[in-house]
Amino acid sequence: MTPRKTCPACGGSDLRALYHLPAIPSQSVVLLDTREEAVAYPKGELTLTLCQGCGFMFNATFDAGLVDYSSTTEESQHFSGTFNRFAKDLAAEIAGRQDLDGRLILEIGCGKGDFLEELVDITGAQALGVDPGFIPERLPGAAGRRIRFLREYFDPDRIKETPDLIVCRHTLEHIPEVGRFMEDVMAVTHGRDDVQVMFETPDAARVLAEGAFWDIYHEHCSYFTLGCHARLFRAAGLNVTKSYLAYGDQYIIQYAEPGQGEPHAEERDLETTLALAEAFPARIAETRAFWLDKVQAAHSAGRATAIWGGGSKAVAFLTTNGLGAEIGHVIDINLHKQGKYLPGTGHVVSAPAALAADPPDTVIVMNPVYVEEIRTALADMELRPEIVAL
Ligand SMILES: [Zn+2]
Repeated sequence: MTPRKTCPACGGSDLRALYHLPAIPSQSVVLLDTREEAVAYPKGELTLTLCQGCGFMFNATFDAGLVDYSSTTEESQHFSGTFNRFAKDLAAEIAGRQDLDGRLILEIGCGKGDFLEELVDITGAQALGVDPGFIPERLPGAAGRRIRFLREYFDPDRIKETPDLIVCRHTLEHIPEVGRFMEDVMAVTHGRDDVQVMFETPDAARVLAEGAFWDIYHEHCSYFTLGCHARLFRAAGLNVTKSYLAYGDQYIIQYAEPGQGEPHAEERDLETTLALAEAFPARIAETRAFWLDKVQAAHSAGRATAIWGGGSKAVAFLTTNGLGAEIGHVIDINLHKQGKYLPGTGHVVSAPAALAADPPDTVIVMNPVYVEEIRTALADMELRPEIVAL
């Protein structure tokens, strides 16, 4: 595929390719019913590219035709106590910033609706959720409880009422045309300047600094630092009112409201981003080699390695390094994932109990924020393997 030649965030053309993977699963949160389907899952090309003008990074060979969010995807993390506490705290923070009682919240990319339900419970607001992957049966209490859903892609022409709060979590990284998307977001404010906006998006500065190859996948076509997130907001006519990193510094949280203000302090990170990008090709080669060596050495020595976390990080971890039999089990506590197969390598996702029957020597935790939760779950099964986190 011919790489894109202009930046989707600022339109600039001073681009630099940082990392290339010729063929990786086109979507990594899909669930497949058989190993054959999983191994044969369509592949896409990844060319992580930096715009040296604005610090935005994107997959210049992203193929939107390979991605369908109305298919069977499973992105919900609400089976984890750690994640639920984070979501509850975030909902409380939002409720503390704005009186939403009787007001309207719009969530773009609401997934299965868990967070919107939390927000409605805590604020007394009405809500509208938009997501092509919404599954009505998964939120049985929602109907009649002041939440409505549009099971479709976000289209501003479909939103007739002006929301008082627009929430958009873990969605922007899936949008190729981020500049145009922000215009669509602004369109639903219908010119009102008191609409509040809250976005949560993975932080790519950490991905660059850590050489976190497990966080780079085909359908994540857009990558932000705090600064370029703020720049994108300002270009769209939004002033950033609060900005920080959350969830073990993995997620950017940015609040904004319509306005034409001065550049936010966060926007001064361009030089840092360029320096991180400069070091990134060597850094990612190093992390890939480290994990490949560790897993292969264990396998050669007859020691069993399991992965805990059957989401997109696991898919990227396995497929980027071409791991197969070296990983005995992939564990996930999400009941909807268990018994399903991961695209690419075709590993089956099992419940934690699979480890009781076949104890591992090492468990690689796909997200460090879950280490204590997982250590407890393993101890409850009287298992004490080495636990290492990405
Ligand atoms: Zn740019």
